[in-house]
Amino acid sequence: MYATRVGALSLAVLLVACGSKGTAPGAATPDTKAPAQAAKAAVSAARLTAADSEPGNWMSYGRTYDEQRFSPLKRINAQNVSQLHLAWHYDLDAAHRAQESTPIVVDGVMYVTSAWSKVFALDPATGKELWVFDPAVPGATGIKGCCDVANRGVAVWDGRVYVGAFDGRLIALDATTGKEVWSVATVDDPGADPQSYTITGAPRVVKGKVIIGNSGGEYKARGYITAYDAETGKKVWRFYTVPGEPGKHDDAASDDVLESKARSSWSGDFWKLGGGGTTWDGMAYDPQLNLLYFGTDNGEPWNHAVRGGGDNLFTASIIAVRPDTGEYVWHFQNTPGESWDYSAVQQLTLADLMIDGKVRQVIMQAPKNGFFYLLDRVTGAFISAQPYTQVNWATGLDPKTGRPVEDRRARYGETGKPWVAMPGPSGGHAWQAMSYDPLTHLVYIPAIDASFAFIGDKSFKPKSMGWNTAVDFNAGSLPEDPKVIAQIQMNLKGRLLAWDPVVQKASWAVPYDTSWNGGVVSTAGNLVFQGTAMGQFAAFQADDGKRLWSVETHTGIVAPPVTYEVNGEQYVVVEVGWGGAFALAAGQLAHDAQANQGNIPRVLAFKLNGTDTMPEPPPPSVPAPPPASKASAKVVAEGKLHYHTFCSMCHGDSAFSGGVLPDLRYSAALGDPNAWQAIVHDGARSATGMVAFGSQMSKDEIETIRQYVIYRANQTAQQAQGPAGGSGAAAAGK
Ligand code: CA
Repeated sequence: MYATRVGALSLAVLLVACGSKGTAPGAATPDTKAPAQAAKAAVSAARLTAADSEPGNWMSYGRTYDEQRFSPLKRINAQNVSQLHLAWHYDLDAAHRAQESTPIVVDGVMYVTSAWSKVFALDPATGKELWVFDPAVPGATGIKGCCDVANRGVAVWDGRVYVGAFDGRLIALDATTGKEVWSVATVDDPGADPQSYTITGAPRVVKGKVIIGNSGGEYKARGYITAYDAETGKKVWRFYTVPGEPGKHDDAASDDVLESKARSSWSGDFWKLGGGGTTWDGMAYDPQLNLLYFGTDNGEPWNHAVRGGGDNLFTASIIAVRPDTGEYVWHFQNTPGESWDYSAVQQLTLADLMIDGKVRQVIMQAPKNGFFYLLDRVTGAFISAQPYTQVNWATGLDPKTGRPVEDRRARYGETGKPWVAMPGPSGGHAWQAMSYDPLTHLVYIPAIDASFAFIGDKSFKPKSMGWNTAVDFNAGSLPEDPKVIAQIQMNLKGRLLAWDPVVQKASWAVPYDTSWNGGVVSTAGNLVFQGTAMGQFAAFQADDGKRLWSVETHTGIVAPPVTYEVNGEQYVVVEVGWGGAFALAAGQLAHDAQANQGNIPRVLAFKLNGTDTMPEPPPPSVPAPPPASKASAKVVAEGKLHYHTFCSMCHGDSAFSGGVLPDLRYSAALGDPNAWQAIVHDGARSATGMVAFGSQMSKDEIETIRQYVIYRANQTAQQAQGPAGGSGAAAAGK
């Protein structure tokens, strides 16, 4: 299915480009003044279940329990969206890291989170700050997260605001004051090895229970999801997604089903490495069926051969449980024996669709593995799936069971040979929210067309710090030839994809030159809103994809917008600020994808004829020239290996920052070996997340990393001035 071949063999990312009709909304939008309630955030089961009766609010992560992320509002519509203008902006007091939050708007207050799990309460009409809560997450926990110190938002319920802090605490706040009411550690023993847990996802509240999962699928983690009493913080139930140590009981809702259905799908001592199946994103709830749905992450370590074979239930699966008890009801595993970071933790969206003349109650997902799935949400039965992006690891699916028919060459762990997989680890779709529009009957997906060279790490030994994937990131790192990188860039694409779930085909698509773009929202105004890596925030006509409006925000966008009404005016709001897995790890590919704009953490709210002015971007900084490179090729090669074992996942492939964390090529410590050791060996900057690596590497090894970065700093500086012309950014992507 892919034809392009890039010269250098061992490259990390080989990316190949890929490749409705609805009616304008007819139903009237009720006037949506907030109910006259004195209490703030007085969200209840009744209000959430009837969320469409107060469309001016956005009361939960996916707006409604079915997580469609569709708004019935239409004061802003395809006819007048050209008049949309900035109404207010709020500069987040937050680190310049990934801003991924879905704002919640209810009872006249907006609750939005930032990197490092801070919570901000704002006036949704003006952006005026009401309170700020900082959970003071220790900087040293940053390394426990694969994909930036992100937070995707809060849940609100009965006067409280719930946030999952990056270090694993679930915290209840008083919605009026922002003061902490209770806090529980969702991780039993935060310091224990082999566990490495964080929280990046948004809690949901179902039947008075706060549901929260954990991240950690690139580390030695065993996935689980937990329900806490919203009033007291007391644990009600926990569901582990993969078996633990044989013979040891968890006293969890999952005990029986893991033994009866899951354990036989594993072999060996997999549990010592965690197993994976973490639960950090998609959830949905059907009140009529009384079913809570959640998705699970990849198997861990990534390399399936290291886990010893088998389907490895319930990794890469959708699971339905009873929200009252956590009792298992059904599961569907979309990638058995997962080996490519193909998580099924992505957004879960419920809808009732007419299929073959019958209304079916479905659950929909566009997981990382590249197929768009439609399941019966009553039973978990497979209905249909088709590739929504380029897929080469499977040639298709069994039409009855949905089990993939694999290309056996894809199993790089078992074959011992590299495999350039499509999609890559960022998936055909990652956490960036999609939206189902019941008027156009289309799902809008922030789709990714990308691939990645998986090379098994033959000398894999689990580490106590950093990623444990059993994939060789050094052998798979980007080539140093800028022409080859430019070629890779040209094949790395994204799309706003309008997908018809019933016929399982694209209806329309808006192509982007960059892959790592923002989430979406659709509205009854026949509109879809999305921000991009390049900093454009735009509106498209929902039925045909026509671009109707856009604004330059001067920073990459990954978060999803939402829309709400206050005082009779409709607003569209989006958090901006570039970051996340691709931004951290993809090196020059990420740098070029957002044109080196960096990250400006900010909330932007738009309304018709708004009168605010978009702040100008800061002037670009001019880096000092690097020290001369004098190290031998052997030292540079050794430094490259250590760099790609410990550093590249955050500071970027081949010592080229994607624009989130400091670019080490311009580090002031590069010319000072003692300062370098103080930071890398001793942890002088632990407070901001740069922990000590002295327990992992010797001082001599750490020095080789400095020499490698000096080598790369000189090489890239020369390439930028070279006869080939222009910077990497100019040379690629067009
Ligand atoms: Ca993962």
